[in-house]
Amino acid sequence: MQRSFATLESKMFDVLVIGGGITGAGIARDAAMRGLDVAIVDKGDWGGGTSSRSSRLIHGGIRYLEHGQIGLVRESVRERETLLRIAPHLVKPLEFTWPVYRGARLPKWKLRAGLIAYDLLAGVGRLRRHDSLSVSEVLTNEPGLRKESLVGGASYYDASTDDSRMTLANVQSAVAHGAVAVNYASMTSLTESDGRIDGAVVEDHLGENKARVRGRCVVSATGPWQARGTKGAHIAVPRHRVGNRSAVTMISPVDGRVMFVIPGGDQAIVGTTDTFTKESPDTIHATEADVDYLLSSANDYFPDAKLNRDDVLSAWAGIRPLAAAPPGTDPSSISREHHIDVAQNGVITVSGGKLTTYRSMAEEVVDNVVRELKVRSAPCGTANELLPGGDRNARRAELEANQPDLARSVIHGLPFTCSDIALAATDEMAVTLADAMVRRTHIAFELADHGVSSASSVAAVMADVLGWDEKTTLSRIAEYQREAERLFRFRESS
Ligand SMILES: Cc1cc2nc3c(=O)[nH]c(=O)nc-3n(C[C@H](O)[C@H](O)[C@H](O)COP(=O)(O)OP(=O)(O)OC[C@H]3O[C@@H](n4cnc5c(N)ncnc54)[C@H](O)[C@@H]3O)c2cc1C
Repeated sequence: MQRSFATLESKMFDVLVIGGGITGAGIARDAAMRGLDVAIVDKGDWGGGTSSRSSRLIHGGIRYLEHGQIGLVRESVRERETLLRIAPHLVKPLEFTWPVYRGARLPKWKLRAGLIAYDLLAGVGRLRRHDSLSVSEVLTNEPGLRKESLVGGASYYDASTDDSRMTLANVQSAVAHGAVAVNYASMTSLTESDGRIDGAVVEDHLGENKARVRGRCVVSATGPWQARGTKGAHIAVPRHRVGNRSAVTMISPVDGRVMFVIPGGDQAIVGTTDTFTKESPDTIHATEADVDYLLSSANDYFPDAKLNRDDVLSAWAGIRPLAAAPPGTDPSSISREHHIDVAQNGVITVSGGKLTTYRSMAEEVVDNVVRELKVRSAPCGTANELLPGGDRNARRAELEANQPDLARSVIHGLPFTCSDIALAATDEMAVTLADAMVRRTHIAFELADHGVSSASSVAAVMADVLGWDEKTTLSRIAEYQREAERLFRFRESS
C-alpha cells in the first residue's frame, strides 16, 4: 500500500475529507463503502493527532451517567458492541474494578444504581454484566489497592483498543473500497467556484509538490485544529510497581474526577487530566503539573507503588475536540457528543465526538454528504463488514518465513520484531520513524528514551523497504529525536 501524492489530482472526487484522525478515517471508509469517490488527506500521519493519545478505551462512559447524558451512553454501548463484532482483533473486553472508600463522592448504592443502568442500556451483548464486590472480593481482584477505609466496590466490563491501529484500519478499509489516501499532505486553502467550495490546495510534506484536489463535497474533520478542547494527559509507569491485575476506576483525591489505571503490557497507564487549554494541538505535551496530578492519584489508590517522577517511562497529552460549551463549564462535564455543521458554501464540518462513537458519527456525516451531493448511494455498511488487520500475524509469519533475519527483535526486551517495522512500511503507510515507533508499534511509549537510542536499527529496516539513501536515513533519525522530544517531554528545562 504505497503513498502516492500524484493520485490526488487523478479525478474529480465526490468527497474530499480533510483530517485523518479516527473521525476523518471513519468518514472516508463509510463514504467509500457506499460507492462514492473519496480522497482523504492528513497533514501528518494517520491518527497522529488526538487519535493516538486517547485512553484507548471503547467504552460506554459510565461517568457520563453522572451528568445525565443517557443518549450518549446508549449510543456508546451500542457502538462498543458493534466494534467488538467488526474488529475483534482490535477491540478486547477489559475488566474494571471500582473500589469504594468511606466518604466517597459516589457511595456504593449510587455506583450500583449507575452500573445497573449501564447494563440495562447495553442490553444483551458480548460483555459480562457488573458484579457488586465485598471488601475481600475487591482485594482479590486488585491486591495492590489501599485497604484502609475500603468499604467494597464493583467490577464491570468495557473494552480496550489500539487507537492508532483503529484509525489506520479505517483508512486501509477506505482504500480497499477505492479511496485515495495520502498522509503528510496538508490542506492549505479551500478553492471555490460560484459561492461553493469545490476542492482544496494540498501541500506535500515529503516533497516539493502541491496539488489542486477537486471535490464535489469537502468534509472538515480536523478535530482540535478546528475546535476548542480540553487537554488530557497520561503517564506510563512500570506495572510491577502498581501491581494492577486489570483496569481500575478511581476518583481522584485531588479534584474528585473519575480516572483510570489501565494495563498496557508491562506498563500501567494512568490517565487522564481534563483541563481547558489554549495550547496548539501541534505542540501539546504533558507538563510536570500533569504528571504530579496523575502520580498522586495513583499513589493514593496504590500506596505501595510510591511512584515519583523518575518512575515515569513516558508522559503524553492530547486535546479532546469538544462541541461548544458555555464559559465556566467544568471540563469533565462537557458533553462528548458531536456536532455536524453544513455551511452555505457546502463544507461539512464535524466536531466533538469520541473514539467509541466514531462509526455512528461517520454514518451521520455521510448521510449529510449524500444529501448535499443529491445522489443515490448504497446504504451505510460499516457495521456489517470486518475492519482489516485481523490477518497481520499471518502476514508477519509469511514475511519471516521468506526473510528469516526479519524475525529478530527490533529492540531487545520488547515484543516487536523487524518484520513489524517492515510491514508498517510495506502495508501500513508508515513513512517516518515516528509512524513506525509511535503508532504502528508502541515502542516509543514503552521505553524511557522513547526508542531514540535504537532509532538507527529501526531506520535500517525502513531504509531497506523504502529505498532510503544514507542522507535520508540520517535525516529521518534526527527528525525522530525531535519528534520524541515534542511528544513526550514533560520536565521543565532548568
Ligand atoms: C486524553 C484523551 C483520552 C481520550 N480517551 C478516549 C477513550 O478512551 N475513548 C474514547 O472513545 N475517546 C477518547 N478520547 C476522545 C478521542 O480520542 C477523540 O474524540 C478522537 O480521537 C478525535 O479524533 P479526530 O479525528 O476528531 O481528531 P484528531 O485525531 O486530532 O484528527 C484530526 C486530524 O486532522 C489533521 N489535520 C489538521 N489540520 C489539517 C490540515 N490543514 N490538512 C490536513 N490534515 C489536517 C491532523 O493532522 C489530525 O490527524 C480521548 C481524548 C483525549 C484527549
